[in-house]
Amino acid sequence: MTSTTSHDPADAAYRTVFEPFRIHSVEPLRMTTAGYRREKAREAAYNLFQVHADDVLIDLLTDSGTGAMSRDQWAAIQHGDESYAGSPSYFVFKDAVQELFPYTHVIPTHQGRAAERILFQVLGGAGRVIPSNTHFDTTRANVEYTGAEAVDLVIAEGRDPHSDHPFKGNMDLDALEALLTERGDTVPCVMMTITNNSGGGQPVSMANLRGVAEIAHRHGKPLFLDACRFAENAWFVKQREPGYADAEVPDIVREMSGMADGMTMSAKKDPMGNIGGWLALNDDDLAMACRNLLILTEGFPTYGGLAGRDLEALAQGLTEVVSHDYLRYRIRSTAYLADALVRMGVPCLTPAGGHAVYVDARALLPHIPPLEYPGQALAVALYEIGGIRSCEIGTVMFGRHPDGSETPAAMDLVRLAIPRRTYTQSHIDYVIEVFERVLTQVDDLGGYRIAWEPPALRHFTARFEPLRS
Ligand SMILES: *Cc1c(COP(=O)(O)O)cnc(C)c1O
Repeated sequence: MTSTTSHDPADAAYRTVFEPFRIHSVEPLRMTTAGYRREKAREAAYNLFQVHADDVLIDLLTDSGTGAMSRDQWAAIQHGDESYAGSPSYFVFKDAVQELFPYTHVIPTHQGRAAERILFQVLGGAGRVIPSNTHFDTTRANVEYTGAEAVDLVIAEGRDPHSDHPFKGNMDLDALEALLTERGDTVPCVMMTITNNSGGGQPVSMANLRGVAEIAHRHGKPLFLDACRFAENAWFVKQREPGYADAEVPDIVREMSGMADGMTMSAKKDPMGNIGGWLALNDDDLAMACRNLLILTEGFPTYGGLAGRDLEALAQGLTEVVSHDYLRYRIRSTAYLADALVRMGVPCLTPAGGHAVYVDARALLPHIPPLEYPGQALAVALYEIGGIRSCEIGTVMFGRHPDGSETPAAMDLVRLAIPRRTYTQSHIDYVIEVFERVLTQVDDLGGYRIAWEPPALRHFTARFEPLRS
């Protein structure tokens, strides 16, 4: 018998997003005024990566390494063993990783991009082509740095901000088959990003992953997961994919990892760490080549750029992130923000992603052309008006190409990334109110020009000038 009125606080019938934790240690937020923030934005050359975090009220720049660790993670820190070689903390970490991702070799790195750099230094190089559903920015940069080409093969719905496809992170299987048929000898591996961060935090279905694995393996290519948000992806599978409603998240994760031959990981995402990452894989020769590079720049293979205490905290975090209570709250709280913005007429990428809400700045600010960076204009306005720090994911991030040319990115989005277990529903209600104010001022917002930029990953350090003051 099922009842329509449940007294379970996790029930979607409740308006309140019940946070399945209470606060044990608090961090003060420093109040600032709009005038002060306008001054700080100018001093930062309108690049929010250059703003001091103390001058931010609600920091939605990224969900990377910004989450709150649990009581049990802080306790695990005390178990950290800092032996240079063979630390017991490494084995605790390795067991926790292999519990979900049963790959033979587990190689810790200081964060995700170090795992990428090592993997692509071995597998990449001039003339090589590496397909993915969508490469994340650091992944693309590490592929291109070796001279290889990074190709995005996400399904057409994944490029449509308003398609309601349940798995907009899926790869276009026909495109992958065609690439491997035509240029297979140049492809060293296939990547799958779960969830698809640059495509809006959108999930990949098990059926699609199975299809990708089948095609890759038939062509003799290993499949690697960029698995940063594996638990959020698994929750979406449980919610949306036929046959998985009753599955346990850890079992879904093991099924995902079983289809691939290895993974790169940023432990600053779902593993609930403030720092960390790893590379895991089955191939012995490839693992040997990767470990040799690891020793050169990251460290000995049983710590790889991390302290023993970090490894302990990550091992504990991996047990917490697969909790159904946590994931239900996580995905619901992101959808809560997206639903409120959509209701007030802010164009958002829908359905909402797992870790972030993506606002379609090009649609919100149609009077600002893509090469005047509408995403940057919205991000700066959110900071000046409300002290909210967000991140442009658009032409600033992806518009410059290795040959020096500049073209509009596929979309001009502003990402509001939600740090894990950090902000409460009342903080998010404030964010919603700030958007109400921004909506009254959109016609007054102008674009930007870039006054200076570095040779790669320009969004981190570029200097901007407003075209209208
Ligand atoms: C964050 C991220 C990375 C890079 O990880 P870092 O720990 O920031 O170096 C790679 N891929 C995806 C999908 C990410 O979200």
